[in-house]
Formats: sequence, C-alpha cells, structure tokens
Amino acid sequence: MELLKGKTAVVTGGTRGIGLAVVKKFLENGAKVALLGSRQETVDKAMAALKEENPNYPVIGMCPSLSNPEQIHETFQKVKEAFGSLDILVNNAGVSAREPLYDYKPEDFNRVMDINVTSVFVCAREAARIMKEQGGGVILNTSSMVSLYAQASGCAYPTSKFAVNGFTKSLARELGKDHIRVNAVAPGVTRTDMVAALPEDMVKRITAPIPLGRMGEPEEVADAFLFLASDMASYITGEILSVDGAAMT
Ligand code: NAD
Repeated sequence: MELLKGKTAVVTGGTRGIGLAVVKKFLENGAKVALLGSRQETVDKAMAALKEENPNYPVIGMCPSLSNPEQIHETFQKVKEAFGSLDILVNNAGVSAREPLYDYKPEDFNRVMDINVTSVFVCAREAARIMKEQGGGVILNTSSMVSLYAQASGCAYPTSKFAVNGFTKSLARELGKDHIRVNAVAPGVTRTDMVAALPEDMVKRITAPIPLGRMGEPEEVADAFLFLASDMASYITGEILSVDGAAMT
C-alpha cells in the first residue's frame, strides 16, 4: 500500500541513519522526496544508493545550511518547483556531544542548539508558510528518549531534545487552524553512525536494561515517521511518539 501517494516531502539529515531510512520508506510509499545533507559528497552518495535501488525514484538532494533562513527559503522554493508542493517536512538532522558540564565549551553548546533546535525552527517556519498557502501539511521532528529521561553527560543534547518537544507541542497548537499537523518521533538507542561512535561498553550499558532487549533499527523508527506523515494519523497532532523498546535510561 502506498501511504504517501502523491505527497512531497523534505527530509533533513537524509543522507544516512534514521533520515536515509525515512527517505527510503517515503519513496517506497509513493512520495517524492528532497533529501538534505550537510555536504555535497554525502548527498551524492545517498542519491547514488537510492538510484541503484530504483533508478525511477523521484528524489532530489541538496545541502543548504539548515539554520540559514535565506538558504532554506531558496531550497524549499526549489523543492516546490521540482515537485509542485511541499506536504511533509521531517526535521531529522541532529548532532550529539557528550562532554561533562565542567568542560563544556559555550561554542560546542551553541553548535548542538544551532542544528538540533534553531534549524528545526527555521525549516518548520519556511515549510509552514508554504503549507498554510497550500491548505495544510505535516511537520515531523526528531526528538529522543533523552527528551523524557535526560542523560548524565553532554547536557546540550538532552536540552535540545526537550526543546524539540516543546516546539512540537506549541506548533501543534498554533498551526492546527491551518490544517498543519505537528508531531515528533522520539527514538531510543538506534543502530546508526551516532551510536556507532559511542564506546562499546557504553552501548552495552545502555541496551542491557531495555525491556525489548535490543537496539532499534532505523527502519523501525522510519515506520513511525511514515505513520505520522500519512492520513492514518489525520487526527494526531502535538504527540511525541516513543520508538524505544520501553527504554527508561
Ligand atoms: P546520524 O549521525 O547517522 O545522521 C545525522 C544526520 O544529520 C546526517 O544525515 C547528517 O548529514 C545530518 N547532519 C548532522 N549535522 C548536520 C548539519 N550541521 N547540517 C545538516 N545536516 C546535518 O544520526 P542518526 O542516529 O540517524 O540521528 C538522526 C536523528 O535521530 C537526530 O536528530 C538524532 O538526535 C536522533 N536520535 C538518534 C538516536 C540514535 O540512537 N541513533 C536516538 C535518539 C534520537
């Protein structure tokens, strides 16, 4: 079943990990997709992998600075020109850093907030302007289980994801009248490069208490985005959907 037939989507951080899984899932379900990445090389690599899977996939790739309003305006206009509309935005790009508070540099804190929060605001604002004019749309943000339980180091990352939840719930209230639904997916420990960068003992410590007894796969997180993007979730807005195997750490 093609749940997103005729829809168009922008996915930030769509070059790998959860974002690339979302791009694939959306394409498989009939959407036209613009994937955004941080560098042209990674965008090209992701595009090549997708085209190898299916040369007819309607997918384009770009690498604007996500917190730069002018670049995002231009990028989203190009998406509209290429696909005719912008129905779904997935704010997925994110970075993490785990320094202890005592050593945390303000510039590192700001870098995490810039990509995890400011870019979510900039992209959502631009998308909402287009969606309002079109008569509706869907904005989905990527939160994290740390937005519920926090974490004991790298304070900027959980702070940024708490902000994503607040932003999601606030926009849902503000944009409901314009027929724009706003939700977030909060993944738990998911098998991507972000997790591969963690020391093995830390991964073991994190996954051991998870009731489902394992990490999540990017495709499992992408399924939640697909559901929330589709009309199956037509009466759901302001929700933070956990996809974490009931993890509580
Ligand atoms: P990843 O590191 O594999 O991918 C991150 C993506 O973000 C990449 O496509 C990268 O190009 C993009 N990105 C990073 N910095 C960027 C920048 N400055 N400008 C543009 N794009 C940038 O990570 P992932 O694990 O797939 O994470 C995706 C999202 O899921 C993030 O928001 C992350 O916080 C969230 N998340 C991940 C996990 C996990 O366990 N992997 C858990 C909870 C939440």
